[in-house]
Amino acid sequence: MAAGSPSTCGTLIADNGISVLSPGFTGELLRPGDDGFDDAAAIWNGSIVSEPALIARCRSAQDVVASVRFAADNRVPVAVRGGGHNVAGTATCDDGLVIDLTHMNEIVVDPAARLVRAGGGATWADVDAATQLHRLAVPGGLVSRTGIAGLTLGGGLGWLRRKHGLSCDNLVSVEIVTADGKIRTASDVENQDLFWAVRGGGGNFGVVTQFTYRAHPMGPTVAFCFVFYPLEIGRSVLKGWRTFCNGAADEACSIALCGTVPHEEPFPQSTRGRQFVAIAAVHCGPVEEGQRALEPLRHLGTPLCDLSAPMPYVDVQSAFDADYPNGRRYYWKSLFLERLDDAAVEVVLQLAAQRPSSLSTVDIWQLGGAMSRVAPEATAFGNRNAPWLLGIESNWIDQQFDDCNKNWAGDACARMESFSNGASYVNFEPDTDVGPQARDAHRLRLAKLKRCYDPENLFRLNHNIAPYQGESNPIRLHKRPDQSCNLAREQSSSSNKTGRSRSA
Ligand SMILES: Cc1cc2nc3c(=O)[nH]c(=O)nc-3n(C[C@H](O)[C@H](O)[C@H](O)COP(=O)(O)OP(=O)(O)OC[C@H]3O[C@@H](n4cnc5c(N)ncnc54)[C@H](O)[C@@H]3O)c2cc1C
Repeated sequence: MAAGSPSTCGTLIADNGISVLSPGFTGELLRPGDDGFDDAAAIWNGSIVSEPALIARCRSAQDVVASVRFAADNRVPVAVRGGGHNVAGTATCDDGLVIDLTHMNEIVVDPAARLVRAGGGATWADVDAATQLHRLAVPGGLVSRTGIAGLTLGGGLGWLRRKHGLSCDNLVSVEIVTADGKIRTASDVENQDLFWAVRGGGGNFGVVTQFTYRAHPMGPTVAFCFVFYPLEIGRSVLKGWRTFCNGAADEACSIALCGTVPHEEPFPQSTRGRQFVAIAAVHCGPVEEGQRALEPLRHLGTPLCDLSAPMPYVDVQSAFDADYPNGRRYYWKSLFLERLDDAAVEVVLQLAAQRPSSLSTVDIWQLGGAMSRVAPEATAFGNRNAPWLLGIESNWIDQQFDDCNKNWAGDACARMESFSNGASYVNFEPDTDVGPQARDAHRLRLAKLKRCYDPENLFRLNHNIAPYQGESNPIRLHKRPDQSCNLAREQSSSSNKTGRSRSA
């Protein structure tokens, strides 16, 4: 903010004090200069620094309602913070209001029903700790410190994606505060259109205060494979891995990573600083069966080192945490790949060798399995047919190298474009003008639902879907008893294999 030109939100609060928000608000309100403000304002991606005018640390859905009404009534910019890990830095904003759900991280597990209720500010570490007490798991992500909210709303790719689908595929319902300040439930039987939209449409439709997930029996120990090969033999390693993936059971889920061995334990001295192609994999079945199934991945060449072992599921879930400290500089890109043929492998290896930062990686995620068997129309998450996801992770420390690291990621994506369907994974997307969906059908339906639930685009500081403005009366809306708006039946062309998300 330029000195002497306070924002609308800043002015409002300067003129009226925080009492403009406080009626009924039971959480914590933080302004610049308050104790704890700087910590609360910081997000995971250190390359993005913003100063909100107010952070509303909510404790309840009613606190969220008060915050949303304040933002809507006063037309102040509003950002929503779950775990604060989105690479685009959308969990914060300059001069506006941050609705911060960090303290709303309660987890309630119903082991008999295998259902898990999680607050909108929970992390996967919260969920995994609570569910593993009952030997259950909800499909989450690969790093335990990420928020469940952003990850689930954008899809959610974790080790269980091939056996149990995406995080959003395991949603049973959400409690959500929409732009009109109402608390709604969205599920298969209530506000089905909204339920469709939040499963892949990101934070565009409101603030989710509670997620209810289906959980699955898991662990406590699973087979974990983590083997590092020298980049010099990367060609045969990646081809061998590709063959493995093509014949793998759904229980086996893997990722290939091209990077540089860190100068630290547990890596042997002789391997440190070497460029590698690593294969990480989890088998979510019985441990011995898993070890047998993953064994071929450990013999794709002579490894630099092999960290494979049976491991507690919660440890697997946090195995990569240390690679992503808060405050580092991050710029990630991604592409859903239609093929990983020999030509694509060559480009991947070249890109890996050209990384300007030893902290950066080129990753290829094995997709398929359960996530690909959900009909593309069943949820707002598209791209279920792509067999691979390319992740270009630019990770570095020094600001003076911003340009070369960002350019490398952008160029890398451009060079892989011809192997892709052109779509990126919204959760790995640093540019907010890239919306959640590449598919036109989803884009239109999402835009129409956005107009329905957030016509003023209150929730726009995200990978935004602009409210539909195409025709004067493009969609027939019918009001439900709870006054939510629903797209008329003809809007749904879904042939939902799962039967879980048919529109009303
Ligand atoms: C280290 C790291 C590892 C990752 N690993 C994976 C992975 O394995 N698999 C995967 O799929 N993704 C992964 N991601 C990407 C991750 O899914 C996104 O960064 C996601 O946005 C993080 O969610 P968050 O709640 O922490 O984000 P935030 O930055 O808090 O939020 C991101 C956006 O989500 C929306 N949002 C957040 N909370 C709410 C809410 N309660 N209600 C409504 N909208 C909300 C808002 O629009 C917000 O701008 C990883 C990211 C990081 C940084």
